[in-house]
Amino acid sequence: MTTLYSPGTRVWLSDDSQQQWIPAEVSSCTKAGDTLTLVLVDENGKETTVSGSTNLPPLRNPELLETVDDLATLSHLNEPSILHAVQSRYLQRKIYTYSGIVLLAVNPFETVPLYTTEIVQQYIGRTKGELEPHLFAIAEDAYAAMVLDGKGQTIIVSGESGAGKTESAKLVMRFIAAPKSPSVNSDANAFVDGASLVEQQIQATNPILEGFGNAKTTRNDNSSRFGKYIQLLFDTNRHIVGARVRTYLLERSRVTYQTHTERNYHIFYQLCRGLPAGDLDALGLSADLSQFHYLNQGGPSTTELNDREKFRAMRDALKIVGIGPDKQKSIFELLSAVLHLGNIAVSHARTEAVIEDDDPSMSRAMQFLGVNAADFKKWTIKKQISTRSDKIVTALTPVQAVGVRDSLARFVYACLFEWLVNAVNESFTGKYGDATTRAETHIGVLDIYGFEHFEKNSFEQFCINYANEKLQHEFNTYVFKLAQEEYRQEKISWTFIDFDDNQPAIDLIEGKLGILALLDEESRLQLGTDASFLAKLNTQLDKPANKDVFISPKFANAAFTIAHYALQVTYSADGFLEKNRDTVPDEHLALLTSSSNAFLREVLDTALHRTAEVVETPPPDGVMSKIPDPGRTGIAGRGGSVKKPTLGSIFKGSLGTLMEMLRMTNVHYIRCLKPNDHKRAWEFIPSQVLAQLRAAGVLETIRISTAGYPTRWTFEEFARRYYMLIHWRDGPPLIKREQFKRLCVLVCQKMALDKTQYQMGETKIFLRIGVLAKLEHVRSIKI
Ligand code: ADP
Ligand code: MG
Repeated sequence: MTTLYSPGTRVWLSDDSQQQWIPAEVSSCTKAGDTLTLVLVDENGKETTVSGSTNLPPLRNPELLETVDDLATLSHLNEPSILHAVQSRYLQRKIYTYSGIVLLAVNPFETVPLYTTEIVQQYIGRTKGELEPHLFAIAEDAYAAMVLDGKGQTIIVSGESGAGKTESAKLVMRFIAAPKSPSVNSDANAFVDGASLVEQQIQATNPILEGFGNAKTTRNDNSSRFGKYIQLLFDTNRHIVGARVRTYLLERSRVTYQTHTERNYHIFYQLCRGLPAGDLDALGLSADLSQFHYLNQGGPSTTELNDREKFRAMRDALKIVGIGPDKQKSIFELLSAVLHLGNIAVSHARTEAVIEDDDPSMSRAMQFLGVNAADFKKWTIKKQISTRSDKIVTALTPVQAVGVRDSLARFVYACLFEWLVNAVNESFTGKYGDATTRAETHIGVLDIYGFEHFEKNSFEQFCINYANEKLQHEFNTYVFKLAQEEYRQEKISWTFIDFDDNQPAIDLIEGKLGILALLDEESRLQLGTDASFLAKLNTQLDKPANKDVFISPKFANAAFTIAHYALQVTYSADGFLEKNRDTVPDEHLALLTSSSNAFLREVLDTALHRTAEVVETPPPDGVMSKIPDPGRTGIAGRGGSVKKPTLGSIFKGSLGTLMEMLRMTNVHYIRCLKPNDHKRAWEFIPSQVLAQLRAAGVLETIRISTAGYPTRWTFEEFARRYYMLIHWRDGPPLIKREQFKRLCVLVCQKMALDKTQYQMGETKIFLRIGVLAKLEHVRSIKI
């Protein structure tokens, strides 16, 4: 330990009061037994004395290395050094930094000149290390890997809300969708002149999904309230032939409730502000948004967010995916029905809910839903309970009736969203051409909400964090476990690194008797409540196997705590059952499915059908069988069947298929970082970024990629591809199985590779980062 420190050694001094690190140098150093006493001087000449045997100040890198573009090349790998490198680069307007196999992207919060046609052209055909770190380098890397052997690729974009996931995912897709044409524009939503139909269709998915699935939140004016996986499909010639979109868990509560300063989904504002007055009148709408309960709860919408312009873009986009003016009109009618539902007045007579027969909002809503108003009214203020022998009808309280009304609005909206996703997908397979039969391989981009932790955490955060546990596990498995196990199998010399395996947390959530299973069990009981669910968690889960991940329910505040890989999160059980059941009463469902509105029936049919697929049947054979399907989402609430799928079980199912899908592809990672909470350009709050870097396990990743060999090829693969690098006097020989390994050694010698750059295993050759690129380069010259 002593040898690490001497006068002049550069170190990081921790400043606990401000939770940050200060650069300092050692001015003197004395040792007594195991204890080292260091006098440190910071940049202002202030002296601090620290002493101890462990936990001494981390070392600071030489100035030359402080802004390296790959953190893996730092000579001192510790949190302050990593943080400092990312910060210094950001302040030099360099928003991208590699961290081994991961690209870190710090949100610039202003338009940056990094996505011009010239820059796109620069990155085409170049390998990752050749140019400045960039999203495009990752995209090109994925594309090149796909071209090389036809294997599917996935680019996972993660990060907290507002970190830049969606913008990054769009830029990546644009780069891949049109790599050889000058079509990437700094406005990721802009349409491209002269783009092919397929490219136009792919781009049209953005305004549609964002209009219906994004909303203004306190943290992001354009926050995606669903997860999405978009696969770009390629034929044997590696030409793009189509795309496929999967979405995950649209936040439904937003349709009927928004917290202060937040908004409902963009489309409602776009519609009310973009539609001509005459059309608005016909829908019973007006540009005065304050009159709609579902739009005014967040307070007046100060930012207009270009709603009017976006509406025009939305209509163009809808048209491109085959949704013409007539269908659009039908969509607008359903949206307006949702808004009118929210304005239906529920009053009371004693404790019982009352709705007036001539409630104007009710008649409008029912007109557009094609449902009889009297029937609607009946099943909104009353409910029917089936017992073994009888059916009993009881009156609901006003609060319950409003609950039923709102559940209907959410259900209609969620089904409409499903229908749109389906329509987008069909535009690639239907009359516009059949991508399904031509597709051979794919590049998928996953844009999914990052880990969430608020003051009050509910079912939504539970699901989101569950998804992140699964993704983190895939990441761990990919980076750590696989590497280590393979090294061991291949008898490669290698230092093992401990990493936090989060399997216990995943088992706790999705295991046979885990939280989701207990929640489903309770949700199916007529008398189940949040409190009885909580009690069940307590009796079933408070056992030794869970001691590191589960903290018993606190009954006083009706909450339970999970120790996630990133952080401990306490979930309030309040509303879990209701949200998991997520269903409209059977009577309402029957009214909707027998509606006189043919479009509504189509929407419900599509949405309910998709649910049935994810829960009950394996993906259909034949269509797209070459490319695995990352799972479908869907809508719960299908009537008639024995067990209604719960939201939790639907989510678990689609996450499971997504993970299977990821395992079959090569995975590339982009981690978006949010430098501050105020959406301010070029402001970097170290403590905030550090928390995000920790949550993403960045440090461990760097250690593994520096110590490891990211490239692993079988001797045969390697020999076949590179034996031509050797100069054969009489032309290349026929290579035989016994010679594969020897040929590999020959190639490495011929290429004068340093012994530290490769290792020969039992069946495979292992190469350091960058070696393959070098070989490929020489090979391309030889060809
Ligand atoms: P997330 O999807 O992670 O919640 P977004 O991708 O919606 O976050 O980004 C939030 C906001 O940050 C965007 O609306 C945009 O203003 C800004 N932003 C993100 N990435 C970039 C970028 N590459 N260049 C400029 N601004 C960006
Ligand atoms: Mg987003």
